[in-house]
Amino acid sequence: MERIYEAVYRVSAVEEPLSADIGVVYAGSAVWLYDVGAIPERLSEIDTRGLPVFCVLSHFHPDHIAALGAIAPERLFLGANTFKHVGRGEIVREDILVGDVRVFPLPSSHAKGSLGLEFGGYAFLGDGICSCTKGGREAYNTGVLGETIKRLKSLSAEYFLLSHDEKFVRKRGEVIAELEEIFSKRTKDSAFIYV
Ligand SMILES: [Zn+2]
Repeated sequence: MERIYEAVYRVSAVEEPLSADIGVVYAGSAVWLYDVGAIPERLSEIDTRGLPVFCVLSHFHPDHIAALGAIAPERLFLGANTFKHVGRGEIVREDILVGDVRVFPLPSSHAKGSLGLEFGGYAFLGDGICSCTKGGREAYNTGVLGETIKRLKSLSAEYFLLSHDEKFVRKRGEVIAELEEIFSKRTKDSAFIYV
């Protein structure tokens, strides 16, 4: 595990086989996992410190959730779309607060029904701010991107944590500025912004 800040850690992503970063947050009476990746062995690197495990799945893509069978979390939070793939857990449709942890719906062009996790000035966003593929090209849904930006601005976190990103920890302002730059390229005649 790599320490990011105080009680916030990660088990980093792997490219072959593709497995997303696993966020680990020690939040008082529970250890929170944000995604579980696709490689069960990566999960065994996590010291639960004897705490109950609460798990949040960012979205339904296999590189984020495929290893779920290797653990038995006390609580499992996911979006409705992810629920269709997993078949169990608590569906999150609006922000929930458990102690100092906020789990929130994140409007996302990449995957409908994405969730983020905010704790202690850090917000895990998974692939939530990534583009999608439209007709073989990378694109953002214009309306959704506007909602993504609005949601990010509503968070108090100073840092955003992005899956697969070579710079996993990003300053909030930089990320929002990049997305606003993309959003500024929208046109009236297309529902998508190609990047
Ligand atoms: Zn994804």
